[in-house]
Amino acid sequence: MTSYTVINPATATPVTQIELASVEETDAAIERAQAAFPAWREVAPGERARLLRSFAAVVDAHLEELAQLEVVNSGHTIGNARWEAGNVRDVLNYYSAAPERLFGRQIPVPGGIDVTFHEPLGVVGVIVPWNFPMPIAGWGFVPALAAGNTVVLKPAEVTPLTAIRLGELALEAGLPEGVFTVIPGKGSVVGERFVTHPLVRKVCFTGSTEVGKRIMAGCAEQVKRVTLELGGKSANIVFADADIAKAAASAPYAVFDNAGQDCCARSRILVQRSAYDEFLGRLQTAVGGMKVIDPGDEDSEMGPLITDKQRDAVAGYLAGIEAAFTGPVPESDGFWLPPTVVLTDDTQAAVWREEIFGPVVAVMPFDDEDDAVRLANDTEYGLSGSIFTRDVGRALRVARSVEAGNLSVNSHSSVRYWTPFGGYKQSGLGRELGPDAPHAFTEEKNVFIAQD
Ligand code: NAP
Ligand code: MG
Repeated sequence: MTSYTVINPATATPVTQIELASVEETDAAIERAQAAFPAWREVAPGERARLLRSFAAVVDAHLEELAQLEVVNSGHTIGNARWEAGNVRDVLNYYSAAPERLFGRQIPVPGGIDVTFHEPLGVVGVIVPWNFPMPIAGWGFVPALAAGNTVVLKPAEVTPLTAIRLGELALEAGLPEGVFTVIPGKGSVVGERFVTHPLVRKVCFTGSTEVGKRIMAGCAEQVKRVTLELGGKSANIVFADADIAKAAASAPYAVFDNAGQDCCARSRILVQRSAYDEFLGRLQTAVGGMKVIDPGDEDSEMGPLITDKQRDAVAGYLAGIEAAFTGPVPESDGFWLPPTVVLTDDTQAAVWREEIFGPVVAVMPFDDEDDAVRLANDTEYGLSGSIFTRDVGRALRVARSVEAGNLSVNSHSSVRYWTPFGGYKQSGLGRELGPDAPHAFTEEKNVFIAQD
């Protein structure tokens, strides 16, 4: 058996060792999940709802423990980590209302009645990336369980601690054995097996576009259901008529939160030319004032990168480029980089095109509304974006024209669990969260009953 040493990214010190599952152990867990499925799907809706609420209460009772685990494992600021643990609780509470409301339809037909059912798929495999280990796990496993599926979940190799704890808390809350199983391991072993094992009926994947394409291709072999939440290179569009002070003050947090390791990071800022100088001046002040300190400190606004490898990859984008300005960075052995702002007018530049997944933002001027929309859409990605303007008509036109799944006007809204979330183009396939998420974990069955 192989193991992985978890490293605290803020200090580069080892935290603990985690055993990594083999293919045989993964198969055994999938078979246990399959064995648990018939009984779980027969649990009465109200009882399944009660179990999910009980799970939420247990998560809430361990909120601080989960948050501290994430600070140590992932370098998330304690403020963010508490929000993330609270998000798992809230998602459990939200979808605890789903079992009793998984309505089918009654469709008028001659000679009898026609009704539809939303039936669970069986075993669902959830594959989670390292950037938001708790929320992204919950967005997959909670609606899947609510719809009557059993779940096997693979955390990212480098960030397994909170997922493992959530698996233990599920049992403490009374979920039957085998209904929700966390399997720490490598993507090439456990993740691949979710794709190839015929008992796994759906793969719910969040991660890079590159791996997502391979998963989609692998799932095609068995016509396996798949949801993909992939990368992004989202635009923050600031028109000259906007509240420039507000736009500039909020822009750093829209990209540097979680050290830029956020698929929704607004990593391209488009600023209308007449407001460009004012915006940049105010942005410099805002970036310079960020608190990039020990993530365990209550005041911390940005922590380290997840690994030395990720830090080096991000730094690679900056080699040979002169930053316009940077924010602070602590003296530390951990994997830190300062928030960094680069200016460009080259739409082919790597900093403008590629998802850097680190604390780097590129700023570019534009001339008019058409120009802004064209530049915003000049990307293979389409996950999120922001629009700052005081003109309501323009806000609406641009929001409808930008090819992305999640847009916010005069704000940088983070993901709300009760609204749908997902990407256009190569940012993903399908939607998570919102009122319809349980349907993504069901098959719709149509039944006709003759009256004579
Ligand atoms: P990644 O390399 O694609 O890994 C994501 C997950 O897939 C990890 O658990 C990984 O396991 C696993 N995996 C890797 N290779 C696999 C394979 N061949 N088969 C099955 N599973 C496999 O992505 P990452 O580096 O962790 O995360 C960064 C990326 O995720 C960014 O591109 C970001 O935009 C994207 N992301 C998107 C969203 C969204 O909602 N759209 C949210 C968060 C992140 P290992 O840990 O063993 O590598
Ligand atoms: Mg990876």
